[in-house]
Amino acid sequence: MTDLVIGSGPSGVSVATALLNRGRQVLMLDGGRRLEAPAQDGRDGLAAKDPDTWTAADVQGWQAPQFDTPPGQVRRFGSDFAMVPGAETLVSPDRIGLRASHATGGLSNLWGSAVLPNRAEDIADWPIGIEDLSPHYRAISEFLPISGRVDPLQTLFPALSMQDRALLTPSPQAERMLVYLDHHKTRLAKLGAHAGAARLAVGTGCRYCGQCLHGCPWGLIYASGQTLDALRRNPAFDYRTGLVRRFEEHADHVTVTLDDGEPLHADRIFVAAGVLETARLMLASSPGPAARLQLQDSQHFFLPSLHRWRARRRPDRRPYHTLPQIFIELDDPDISPHLVHAQVYTWNEFYAHDLISSYGSKLPGSAPLWRMLARRLIVAQAFLHSAHSARIDLTLAPDGRLVPTVQSNDETEQVMARATARMAQVLKLAGLTPLSFALRPGDVGSSFHVGGSVPMAQAPGAGQSDILGRPHGLSRVHLVDASSLPNIPATTITFSVMANAHRVGMLVP
Ligand SMILES: Cc1cc2nc3c(=O)[nH]c(=O)nc-3n(C[C@H](O)[C@H](O)[C@H](O)COP(=O)(O)OP(=O)(O)OC[C@H]3O[C@@H](n4cnc5c(N)ncnc54)[C@H](O)[C@@H]3O)c2cc1C
Ligand code: SF4
Repeated sequence: MTDLVIGSGPSGVSVATALLNRGRQVLMLDGGRRLEAPAQDGRDGLAAKDPDTWTAADVQGWQAPQFDTPPGQVRRFGSDFAMVPGAETLVSPDRIGLRASHATGGLSNLWGSAVLPNRAEDIADWPIGIEDLSPHYRAISEFLPISGRVDPLQTLFPALSMQDRALLTPSPQAERMLVYLDHHKTRLAKLGAHAGAARLAVGTGCRYCGQCLHGCPWGLIYASGQTLDALRRNPAFDYRTGLVRRFEEHADHVTVTLDDGEPLHADRIFVAAGVLETARLMLASSPGPAARLQLQDSQHFFLPSLHRWRARRRPDRRPYHTLPQIFIELDDPDISPHLVHAQVYTWNEFYAHDLISSYGSKLPGSAPLWRMLARRLIVAQAFLHSAHSARIDLTLAPDGRLVPTVQSNDETEQVMARATARMAQVLKLAGLTPLSFALRPGDVGSSFHVGGSVPMAQAPGAGQSDILGRPHGLSRVHLVDASSLPNIPATTITFSVMANAHRVGMLVP
């Protein structure tokens, strides 16, 4: 028998890497959805050409499906392969932004690739500390490419050294902001703010073609399918597709049942199916933990601004990338005992598109005005710790979907207001005029920084897991995605999920 890993997303490949490095036999299962042939052909066609030779029709054809995405869905590469439509997982998906994935590589086919480790102080109430995670951040960075540079964020996050890393060159707008912020570093410090270049999981060789939010034609934005390809070269590793519906733990093994009723037996299982699918599995399995699980969200909001300077170069002319450009961390107990994390996005094609579709029809002939405004628009996406955010109760419906109920948090509005006011001060120092009246909170779950449904505890009780992710009462089932995190700090989630999954894989008996 073997170790069975359910899921090939970032958490699945991380635990599998650790298990294989210890000489264990691993079978990985995932939903197996991949980019379909027509979309793959479009991608290959674009990648075969130099971006300077792309025609306007090439670019429009690549971008159009993303502009046409239904609400709640995130689409890249012109395909929905990586995101399960909400109504397939949730009975009432309307107020919930979170979605599952049945793709090879999971949601990492869609992500923004922003990576940060946890800050020690933000996980002081966890049963494991930063010293437990640090070796695993290092192990993960051996296969996760991370671009960035040594800057003021380094001291805040010593668990991720930026020494000798390649830098994805920030856009001219972002470079200008960083110069202003550096110039005002004393005032920035008084505001309890730290800023630096975004840390991004992007490989070297970027062509600065600006298609990041539509799908990188060259696959330079990390997706965990890349690590899966490497794992498949290991003779101790086996991979197959198939959706798991439930599991059952016995004295000396675990049985999982696939969608078509086929049973599989394993010594241990490592559940890395993403927080919604993991919750569904837990609620459907025997012995189940409870009839109800509660997910913790890290709520986010968007604060738009306009830059005040006269640009020497148009931001919509290549070269540029459209991933997050700058990270800003607010560290002030008057706002929150935890960090507030923000990612700054400069020009991208969605700005003009969204402005024209929202306001263009009300003012006929106004499209050029919105396009001009879009070239000055810069948006900060800020995240709060889960202590200040809503929770989502999940129960199992008779048809196997999840019934979500949002439990809002009385603190959210106040913490968001304090964070917005402070962020606006920081953005002013960066040469921007914040448009605080246009602040837009995201739907619950839409940050995708969600987890903690079976939180790790030193002495776990009902509904909790031990520090190896084993739900109370189970000894051969390990939850290694965000489900077992004790809570969700505002800083990006995936790097810590990967490090934790790797830690479990290295420590499991
Ligand atoms: C638009 C977007 C932007 C994001 N940006 C960022 C970011 O910038 N930074 C960041 O840190 N995070 C970001 N995230 C979140 C990030 O994508 C997730 O944290 C990460 O993918 C979670 O990894 P995972 O392995 O736990 O689960 P997933 O990525 O969801 O993978 C789940 C895996 O399990 C498989 N699976 C699911 N159900 C079953 C089943 N029943 N049986 C068998 N296999 C199953 C799937 O096929 C898949 O392989 C973003 C997410 C989205 C959608
Ligand atoms: S700009 Fe974005 S899409 Fe283009 S090559 Fe670089 S990472 Fe890929």
